[in-house]
Amino acid sequence: MGEICALCKELENDALIMYKDDYCFGVVAKWPLKKGHILVVPLRHLSDVSQLSEKESKAIFQFIGNLQKALPKLYGRDVIVIQNPNHKRTEGHIHFHVLPSIGGIRDLFSKYEGVPNRKESSYEDMAKMAEEIRVEIGG
Ligand SMILES: [Zn+2]
Repeated sequence: MGEICALCKELENDALIMYKDDYCFGVVAKWPLKKGHILVVPLRHLSDVSQLSEKESKAIFQFIGNLQKALPKLYGRDVIVIQNPNHKRTEGHIHFHVLPSIGGIRDLFSKYEGVPNRKESSYEDMAKMAEEIRVEIGG
């Protein structure tokens, strides 16, 4: 195997880990976008959300919920949760970014991807999209 994954390696850094249970841990981001930027990481070296077990999913989202309560008291309001696609990650090891943010996802997309103002979708368009996705995922 190649190099040891940086997130697996973070587990040795007790000082940077603010939480750890049998399924996941929380570590302060090494290159934070802003103060209060936390990474929530499954203990197992997984590359996709679909690989998370039920227990891992539950532990991760309970912890994220706790961070959403704690971070505003410490660093700033409006905590957002982001998970990048595999090929956009520095590490293959899946992780959720949790950080305070003045803007929500709409602001981020409009600023950086030039997405125009929102337009209300028709019921028909929404139903069509739901059906396309349903067929694709085999539901
Ligand atoms: Zn790893």
